[in-house]
Amino acid sequence: LETSEFRKAAHRIIDWTIDYHESLKCGRLPIPAVKPGFMKERLPNAGPAQKESWETVFGDVENVVLDGALHWLSSNYFGYFPTGISYPSMLGDMLCTSTANIGFSWASSPSCTELETVMMDWLAKALNLPDFFLHNGRGPGGGVIQGSASEATLITMLAARNKVTQEERSRDPKQSIHEITARMVAYASKYSHSSVERASKVALVNIRLLDVDENISLRGSILRNAIEEDRRQGKIPMFVCATIGTTACCAYDNILELGSICQNEKIWLHVDAAYAGSALLCPEYRYIAQGLQSITSFNFNPHKWMMVNFDCSVLWVRNSLDIINSLNVNPVYLQHKDQTKAIDYRHWQISLGRRLRSIKLWFVMRMIGLEGLQHHIRKGVSQAKYFELLVRSDGRFEVVFPVTLGLVCFRLLSPDSTLEKTNELNSKLCEEIQRDRRYVLTPSSVNDVYFLRFSGGMNFCDVESIKGCWEHMREKADLVLHHCGD
Ligand code: PLP
Repeated sequence: LETSEFRKAAHRIIDWTIDYHESLKCGRLPIPAVKPGFMKERLPNAGPAQKESWETVFGDVENVVLDGALHWLSSNYFGYFPTGISYPSMLGDMLCTSTANIGFSWASSPSCTELETVMMDWLAKALNLPDFFLHNGRGPGGGVIQGSASEATLITMLAARNKVTQEERSRDPKQSIHEITARMVAYASKYSHSSVERASKVALVNIRLLDVDENISLRGSILRNAIEEDRRQGKIPMFVCATIGTTACCAYDNILELGSICQNEKIWLHVDAAYAGSALLCPEYRYIAQGLQSITSFNFNPHKWMMVNFDCSVLWVRNSLDIINSLNVNPVYLQHKDQTKAIDYRHWQISLGRRLRSIKLWFVMRMIGLEGLQHHIRKGVSQAKYFELLVRSDGRFEVVFPVTLGLVCFRLLSPDSTLEKTNELNSKLCEEIQRDRRYVLTPSSVNDVYFLRFSGGMNFCDVESIKGCWEHMREKADLVLHHCGD
């Protein structure tokens, strides 16, 4: 592609983006009709030997890519959790791509490192996180951008593992690393995200997924009993992952209770606030995360609900040396003369290479501003509250859990009120919605109760799309209730 052609093509992409977004507010079906394997039928078996023109390639985008995409930005999208997007973030991402910096060490891109450091402090302050997480604090704490919450949990678990291994070895040097690791136990609620269990598989650490109380919250007493039981058996409790805003139903573990136990027991307490963390931008929602003073690390995904495009998952640790010591390897080709004076983020993550992701955070925080972001969060919550009102207005439905942020968990009640029949009915309701393709909602299950999740907070969602979604639910309810005796 010649430079002049690139200029034209890039402008065309911007025009196309705006038109695509418009189409998502105007009736484009969010769920694709394709079946697994469809792509092979639309593409040749191998790439071309001769280069093709931009027009030809771009001409295939609609048929090959968009026709098979789930349109997360549709105004009718209420699935999973929101995906972050905004013009400032997209512009930041473009600049990130344009500079093509790979900032693994300070020397490999001083700006990549230092902008990230400052942005992590800005963001920590915007969320009112404890001062010990700040780079400019007196302690060794600080923040780093990861690609995902899954990586953040894994890294903190590895750091905890390394720390405990060092302590055990200094107590009794004869123990092998494998013997020590085999005795380690991590804990999380049984409704923590699957990535916590995944982290334990990668870190080779046993995990116990603990019961929760009636509010689906992991409580201190349950954790304490588990720790005591494990200590009696000679195991080493070493890591707890508490969730603020579970994926299944947006429940909150009790950080105050878990924190004091973890501090007394010298156990790493990581908080996974992947979704709900963005809500801490608003003072009125900070009650969901009381007790952060006693935690060891905190993570959330601005790429969910803070108008920052994927990927951008932010992690703060109380003592960055814990992470650095567990991941540090230092070949000559990566060393540089300023390495004792500067942060090298390669020691804070699994991969070596890293993008200039902080630039989109910088753009978002400056061009939308804290007040704009707070408005976005409050809008998402009010969308959920409105949908909750609609659900409560129809006696055939029930709201399954309290609506505290942007998530409404609801289900259709079965005339025959057994759990099995009601679950079956709601599973059919979900199938009907997916078959229809006009609205995206995700199912979930807690305590064996199957329900649907309505997730507010997407940029193009408005009152009309919420009303439309609700009417759709009612129509589909008529349909499945009509056939429920069949
Ligand atoms: N934790 C929670 C509470 C989540 O809701 C999710 C995803 O939705 C994750 C972790 C995993 O996020 P990621 O895709 O960033 O690894």
